[in-house]
Amino acid sequence: TTQEETLGFQTEVKQLLHLMIHSLYSNREIFLRELISNGADACDKLRYQALDNDALYEGDSELRIEIEHDADANTVMIRDNGIGMSRDDVISNLGTIARSGTAEFLKQLSGEQQKDAKLIGQFGVGFYSGFIVADEVTVRTRRADLPHDAGVEWRSRGEGEFSVANIERDARGTEIILHLKDDAKEFADDFRLKSLVRKYSDHIEVPVRMPRTEVERDENGKEIEGSEKIVWETVNEATALWVRSKSEISDDEYKAFYKHVAHDFSDPLTWSHNKVEGKLEYTSLLYVPGRAPFDLYERDGARGLKLYVQRVFIMDDAEQFLPLYLRFIKGVVDTRDLSLNVSRELLQQDPQVEKMKSALTKRSLDMLKKLSKDDEKYQTFWNTFGSVLKEGPAEDYANRDKIAGLLRFATTHTDSATQDQSLAAYVERMKEGQQKIYYIVADSFNAAKHSPHLEIFRKKGIEVLLLSERIDEWLMSHLTEFDGKSFVDVAKGELDLGEIEGEEEKKAQEETAKAKEGLIKRVKEALGDEVQEVKVTHRLTDSPACVVLPEHEMGFQMRRIMEAAGQ
Ligand code: ADP
Ligand code: MG
Repeated sequence: TTQEETLGFQTEVKQLLHLMIHSLYSNREIFLRELISNGADACDKLRYQALDNDALYEGDSELRIEIEHDADANTVMIRDNGIGMSRDDVISNLGTIARSGTAEFLKQLSGEQQKDAKLIGQFGVGFYSGFIVADEVTVRTRRADLPHDAGVEWRSRGEGEFSVANIERDARGTEIILHLKDDAKEFADDFRLKSLVRKYSDHIEVPVRMPRTEVERDENGKEIEGSEKIVWETVNEATALWVRSKSEISDDEYKAFYKHVAHDFSDPLTWSHNKVEGKLEYTSLLYVPGRAPFDLYERDGARGLKLYVQRVFIMDDAEQFLPLYLRFIKGVVDTRDLSLNVSRELLQQDPQVEKMKSALTKRSLDMLKKLSKDDEKYQTFWNTFGSVLKEGPAEDYANRDKIAGLLRFATTHTDSATQDQSLAAYVERMKEGQQKIYYIVADSFNAAKHSPHLEIFRKKGIEVLLLSERIDEWLMSHLTEFDGKSFVDVAKGELDLGEIEGEEEKKAQEETAKAKEGLIKRVKEALGDEVQEVKVTHRLTDSPACVVLPEHEMGFQMRRIMEAAGQ
């Protein structure tokens, strides 16, 4: 070995390693899934690059992952003949975490094992998970386009530093050797490893193979000396899951595949698997996660689907196939209708992609609608992603009715902060003669719930939506009606309760207004330019006065947002 150097891990890696080792103990078998997943990614990348450069295969185009173990030496080895890594690749990929927002994410970790295990799971632990079971990890690798003397060996005990050295390596691709900790010896076992491969990696298209020694026997059943040979046996199913027909795929297989594509530990809430034939040909497998990724609200957070063209992996996070307000959806799209060398730029201009996007959007909304039949699961969904879906009516005008049907609100019906009432349920409970859907927007749920604007509604038993999220006013400015009923902000403009109020009530109100003209004049003089107008109101039953915005004015929340933005 030459040019050996020792380098320190990036601070975030050190933190992650420490937390992972301490909080993932009870999930530690996932190291195998992560390392196989990396091997499969490496094979995908090689296959993709070899499309325009066949020489990268070096005469060996049978991509595979191999797992070996040695119970005496306490080691497990995972090897792939994928793209491999150069020295620079090794240093940046296995020494840092490139994803933005990592530092922020790590700050959220609490030190409580259970909570952190969940958070780390959604972050995707990847390569470093090897250190949950190993006290030393060795990586030997060579990049497919580099000569045999450009091999690299990386070693680390997971304690803050790692070493890299150049080595001679004939085989292309990467092998990872885990030197198991004393309490993890159980993994150096044929049966254990096989069952983990089947459990986690059945759906991976690359074959995962394990060796078996076969011997020949003579007619008396005695082993023939020197007849042993190693037979490589494929352990996983090794067909891309989405290619198989729905009826052949079990729920567990769908769930395992989800964990692979979404880098998530926990089960998805639901999924939708479809093959489309005709003018456009594609297969999609979409999932609704049960948990938000840490970068859901980050501008450059990971989003989009994994894109394949005729089963060849093209790219992760292809964000052109779904609108932004569905960015929580994870999954795969595989199509014949794009060229294998399509780039992100080309995706943006392709009219086929636009058509697929609109079809996948409908699929996603339908999937959510189906999910909404299960109250408990839908509530989990709503609590996790509801405020993202609320961006929908503004972004996707064409689907705003569908989206409106999926929204959930806190309302005066329950007076609870839980957003669990649909507009359909509101409409069903509308009072005789009520033609509008009433809502109020405030800074907090409590401010909304206790607003004096609600007094008259409470008295008359009319339900009002209680909105208090930052996005709500934006949402309401794009939702014009639901089921033919328009929305009315109870804090704005004239309050017209329409036919709910009888003629007599209206007459009595007009009379009061006349009788109080003198008072109104005095109040107006006292407030001067502070207000536009002073009026007699019938909104209030207990409070003496309240501030109302003209109908077409920007709401209080929007004003604050604009002010914060320096407008
Ligand atoms: P992720 O897979 O989410 O990118 P990992 O921690 O699993 O994160 O891996 C980090 C990076 O290391 C990968 O993105 C890849 O570039 C590189 N890498 C890991 N394992 C391999 C491998 N077997 N072959 C080639 N590159 C690999
Ligand atoms: Mg990985």
